[in-house]
Amino acid sequence: MILSLPTVRTVRDLRAAVGAWHAAGERVALVPTMGALHRGHLALVERGRALCPRVVASLFVNPTQFGPNEDFVRYPRDEVRDAALLAGAGCDLLYAPDVAEMYPERFATTVDAGPIAERQCGPFRPGHFAGVATVVTKLLLQSAADVALFGEKDFQQLQVIRRVARDLDIPAVIEGVPTVRESDGLALSSRNVYLTPEQRAVAPALYRTLTEMARRIEGGSEVAAVAADGLATLSGAGFTAIDYLDVADAETLAPLARLDRPGRILGAVWLGKTRLIDNITVVPVR
Ligand code: AMP
Repeated sequence: MILSLPTVRTVRDLRAAVGAWHAAGERVALVPTMGALHRGHLALVERGRALCPRVVASLFVNPTQFGPNEDFVRYPRDEVRDAALLAGAGCDLLYAPDVAEMYPERFATTVDAGPIAERQCGPFRPGHFAGVATVVTKLLLQSAADVALFGEKDFQQLQVIRRVARDLDIPAVIEGVPTVRESDGLALSSRNVYLTPEQRAVAPALYRTLTEMARRIEGGSEVAAVAADGLATLSGAGFTAIDYLDVADAETLAPLARLDRPGRILGAVWLGKTRLIDNITVVPVR
């Protein structure tokens, strides 16, 4: 059975739906997505459901967060399938605006989250986090959601959004949701469909390497030595290229030389034309 999901495509209709729930005293969770949904996205909906009686998912492949040579055009799109998955996961409403609704003529404002957006993926994807921060700011203000859920899979994005929400006094509570993985550790991603079987076999080495690094750092090994070994392991694992492998302060994402506060290990690698990112927590052991 294909479940159908009420769908709105304008800010006005979104506000009317959410306004009615708020008037009835119901809190509303927002799950922003670009579609091509998988279990990772559905985990966000389920967490939203656990926190609020109403869940709205947005589906918008945001052109401003893709670089000129990135996969905006070929990004997988299937709204009917996505809507059925969302309905099955307990979502109440789909918000699927078109580009003209999101960026009307003469649109000119961008949100810049500062230094946190300049680290890790920043230099490799110029303009990406400005695109993300701007569209998420709009989604939070358009929906007036009480809670918004984001995956730790995109940890830098999550921390950028937390920075923006704090700095701009956006009232939504920003909730991070743990990364959903395949059984071999590969983080679920809409882009995994691009991988050939050979590339798919190499892909789990990213998470394996991050896990081994976290184990050693938490065991007391020196961060710089572990980072160098991690890079060597990744280099030998069969990836086409490595953008970065960083041990960072979990909040600011600035380099972390010693594990004297919560950290995060973040990496980005290429398999052919597909870019994979992943990250893992690393915490001081008492
Ligand atoms: P996207 O559609 O790729 O923009 O992702 C929409 C949301 O789903 C973002 O908050 C992502 O961090 C989150 N997400 C994507 N993949 C996963 C995953 N494997 N586990 C948890 N959340 C994820």
